[in-house]
Amino acid sequence: MDAPRPPGLTLCGSMSLHPVSLGAAMHLAGYRALDLPFTYIPFKVTDLAGALTGARALGIRGLGVSMPYKQDVIPLLDALDPYAARIGAVNTIVNDEGQLTGYNTDAEGALRAIEEDRPVASARVVLLGAGGAARAIAHALTTRGASVTLVNRDHDKAEAIARATASRIATLEAALEPGGFDVLVNATSLGMTDIDPRSPLPEALAEATIGPSVLVMDIVYKPIETELLRLARRSGARVIHGGRMLLHQAARQFELYTGRAAPLDAMDDALRATLGESPATR
Ligand code: NAP
Repeated sequence: MDAPRPPGLTLCGSMSLHPVSLGAAMHLAGYRALDLPFTYIPFKVTDLAGALTGARALGIRGLGVSMPYKQDVIPLLDALDPYAARIGAVNTIVNDEGQLTGYNTDAEGALRAIEEDRPVASARVVLLGAGGAARAIAHALTTRGASVTLVNRDHDKAEAIARATASRIATLEAALEPGGFDVLVNATSLGMTDIDPRSPLPEALAEATIGPSVLVMDIVYKPIETELLRLARRSGARVIHGGRMLLHQAARQFELYTGRAAPLDAMDDALRATLGESPATR
């Protein structure tokens, strides 16, 4: 049996069907770097309502929420951050003495990752995908004043996001008119090692449309250097890998749970070690 939690130690964690260690690695590294009396456990959850009752009763301070629970969790919470309410998905829960509030830090993570390179306001962004991540990013970008063009295989899903965010929809070729966009974001799952490692852009189209004035962000983080980022680098574009969004969304969670600024470098080193990447690739 595990040792009981020492008095004064605050517990955070995550809830998913298939727990992974990335969040734990980043949060624990952050607690260590600031010497905070916090710890973090990734929980495998099959009974969502029961898990939240337990979180209230046990005083678990913060919980990350993964698929498939990002929408299902909403009616079980006491309050929603207005941003999460607009997006319609929650990836973070903060427990204030039994009062559970839902947030969406994926959106904030994407904004912070892009704004390390350039302002989002007034950027012309082509956003590939219309899944959960794309929806959060479309809301974040348009709320911050970017103009967004959505490209997705399933037109109806793109249409729903376009209506909710005042974005437009185009084909890949029309969206990527040379000189017509500043930022390209891949929010499809294309590029992932274990799913489909292909680039969402054919090589010839990438060469014809991406140049040094363009910023390319791939939110896929496994591998860190996706095929899209390899093509973009070769065309002289600036690139942001998916680990950066992952890091910034965890940093926002860290701030919500602890009230302290997140130690980004320590968390980034832990993320890269867990992903098997060298810090030198930063
Ligand atoms: P999702 O809801 O399942 O959406 C998947 C998206 O990929 C859909 O738009 C889907 O198009 C598109 N897609 C899948 N296969 C495709 C193909 N062969 N050709 C064209 N489009 C294809 O997934 P999600 O939760 O949005 O996540 C998307 C990716 O983002 C995943 O790789 C995930 O790991 C990553 N992610 C990263 C972060 C981060 O912090 N870096 C955060 C969240 C997610 P249809 O709609 O046409 O099916």
